[in-house]
Amino acid sequence: MLVFFAFVVGAVVGSFLNVVVYRLPAGESVVHPPSRCPSCGHRLGPLDMVPILSWLAFRGRCRYCGAPVSARYPLVEALTGGLFALAAWLHPVPDVGLLLAWGFTALLIALSFIDIDHYILPDSLTYGGLALGLLGAAIWAFPVGWSEAWQGALAAAGLLALIGGFANLVLRRGASGRPGFPVGLEHVYLAAAVAAWFGWGWGVLAAAAAVAVNLARRRPLPLPDALTLGAAVLGVLVASYGVLPLGVLESVWAMLLAAGAVALAGGLYWALLPEEEEEEEDEEPVAMGFGDVKLAGMLGAWLGFGPFLVALAVAVFAGAVLGLLFRRRKLPFGPYLALGGWVALWWGASWVQAYLAYLGLS
Ligand SMILES: [Zn+2]
Repeated sequence: MLVFFAFVVGAVVGSFLNVVVYRLPAGESVVHPPSRCPSCGHRLGPLDMVPILSWLAFRGRCRYCGAPVSARYPLVEALTGGLFALAAWLHPVPDVGLLLAWGFTALLIALSFIDIDHYILPDSLTYGGLALGLLGAAIWAFPVGWSEAWQGALAAAGLLALIGGFANLVLRRGASGRPGFPVGLEHVYLAAAVAAWFGWGWGVLAAAAAVAVNLARRRPLPLPDALTLGAAVLGVLVASYGVLPLGVLESVWAMLLAAGAVALAGGLYWALLPEEEEEEEDEEPVAMGFGDVKLAGMLGAWLGFGPFLVALAVAVFAGAVLGLLFRRRKLPFGPYLALGGWVALWWGASWVQAYLAYLGLS
């Protein structure tokens, strides 16, 4: 009964997600004006907007002008309905937890399809999802507790930012990326370097000091990526010899937390900044979009860090398999991360437990 009800709710939500996917990247309001046929402009009535069924009843055509309606609309509705139903089956209690799981599902579907269409992950959805994840953890401890949530958000974003940093360093043969003003990726790497040696608070403080120096100088202070990322690796190596106050795991953890804190704060600054001539000149090669870092932060907040690693592993595996199957088109990484995140919401924690048990660690 609950599962059937969940499917219906999901199909209706999926119908709304179609509007979000279509309008949000265009900067249009998602609630106004009412939906119209994109071909003839005729306003859609209630009969045209019954999820899945309208599309089937009118055989995938507009009732007024006969223009074909993409099969993706009913597919998104069916996918959302199916995942809402699966969530209700896996979490068979009609409580706040189920509502949060549905919210997480809806956000991931919207993000995936927008990324497929436009190669972007809108800040309103990634940061909105991050905030909802932290809120759910703080108030209802669902799906994880508060300390797992905020640390998961920072460490997950930090991990992806640093993977991106090292990959870019290889791509650019050791040359630095373009510095940001007043805050840029170079501050993420600086935070990681200082944190690996001295702890994550000092890392964040060092990045904040470097941003303050930028503001005082009115131009970016050069911080070579090879130097900062190299210092981070060296810090972890030195920590593994036990000569620092930090142990090796503490050093790595501090590095991830500090890098994530600076990446998410810097990303929020760029998101809230009024649009300027962004992107345009951005022709330097990048291994990973910064949107993926923010999506990782969102997933970390929902899952905690251990299950986030499960999500990342699923994403990389699915990306490799599907990448081989669909070689024609460059697919963005966001949908794979979303898939991994959804899988890890239900099975991540138990897979982490099983793996630790396998290693004899728990
Ligand atoms: Zn029409």
